[in-house]
Amino acid sequence: MTQLVSIRVKKSVEEAVRKGMPWVYAGELVDSSELLLIPSGSLVTVENPKGQRIATGYFNHRSQIACRILTLLPEPVNVAFFARRFRKALEMRDRLIGVPYYRLIHSETDGLPGLLVDRFGDIIVIQVGTAGMEQLQPLWLEALETLLQPKAIVLRNDTASRLLEGLVKEVTWLKGEPVRLVELTENGCTYFADLEHGQKTGWFYDQRDNRKLIANLAKGKTLIDIFSHSGGFGIVAAVQGAKEVTMVDSSALALELAMKAAQRNGVAERCKVLQGDAFAVMERLAKDGQAFDIVLADPPAFVKSKKDIASGLKGYEKVSRLAAALVATGGHLFVASCSHHAGRSAFNKAVLDGVAKAGRKAEIVKQTGASGDHPRHPSLAQNEYLKGILLKITS
Ligand code: SAH
Repeated sequence: MTQLVSIRVKKSVEEAVRKGMPWVYAGELVDSSELLLIPSGSLVTVENPKGQRIATGYFNHRSQIACRILTLLPEPVNVAFFARRFRKALEMRDRLIGVPYYRLIHSETDGLPGLLVDRFGDIIVIQVGTAGMEQLQPLWLEALETLLQPKAIVLRNDTASRLLEGLVKEVTWLKGEPVRLVELTENGCTYFADLEHGQKTGWFYDQRDNRKLIANLAKGKTLIDIFSHSGGFGIVAAVQGAKEVTMVDSSALALELAMKAAQRNGVAERCKVLQGDAFAVMERLAKDGQAFDIVLADPPAFVKSKKDIASGLKGYEKVSRLAAALVATGGHLFVASCSHHAGRSAFNKAVLDGVAKAGRKAEIVKQTGASGDHPRHPSLAQNEYLKGILLKITS
């Protein structure tokens, strides 16, 4: 094994790292002027203050999270290392989901911090979030190609957070012919994702189980899917027998794909789309006296950082107030949040406050999270980013 540069963590965090905490913040390192000389993204040996090895990780002095841990074992970080992690992740997804449409790698939780891999059959979408993972690309790419032998691979490296790591934003096809639009299977339905222009990696697999939950309630009911994107919730609900499904989003592209999916699944005559600002649409529908048996709202993250927790929670309260006004008495309201920094109890409170402000009463039927292909890291509370709450509106 080649000798790596060493960094030392303070005694106070040694135990946490040994127990599996995958992040070391800049302030948790033993000060050394030499840290600045380590090129961004370098593999490093992580030591305790006595100079004993604890882990191997990668380092970036530009980032608040200065070091991300790759392994506690004294093993080399090579193609075989990545192949082991990919195989483990693949086995879990294949058992859990059964069709090759899922998030294969969910960053730290799959032992690969900074790496997201979504699978659309034999087409792979990758997002690299850190300089460390970018440096290791030749190794993990070889492991991934050998394991899955994909037809095409696209790098959706267009997230703003890359700039903080000193990386550029770009979308690159690493292998195969660029395929903009792909079909995917989920909950027995066919959907479409735009891998180049769609949001994030083109599809939000994390809502798979929540979509099924709502669809199970939908037979014979009217449903409005607010912030619908490409119809993840709405289409499966229609396929499960919803009487009428209305999908609302500001993105014309997302709605075009939603209607394409409605046609493909043979439910277009029971589906319609409304393009516009969801807040304005909800206000207009309420003014027109419209009501739906099921109202669901899955907005974009309102809390983007710790400093906007309060204003973001107000956003969830407002969405919930406007959405609750549209629920027929005895019907259901589902609200989701994908904000890492909004905790579950604060989110629940915001939703329930919104419902109360709409003058409605509710029972909590169920609280939900992300599907199992987005597992949560036990040491990272913010990993529990996706939260859903299903309410029955009783009056
Ligand atoms: N429910 C979707 C995912 C929603 S992601 C699914 O299951 O796949 C959030 C969506 O909100 C995006 O599609 C985005 O286009 C849309 N959006 C963001 N701001 C909006 C606004 N003010 N009005 C309407 N849609 C909005």
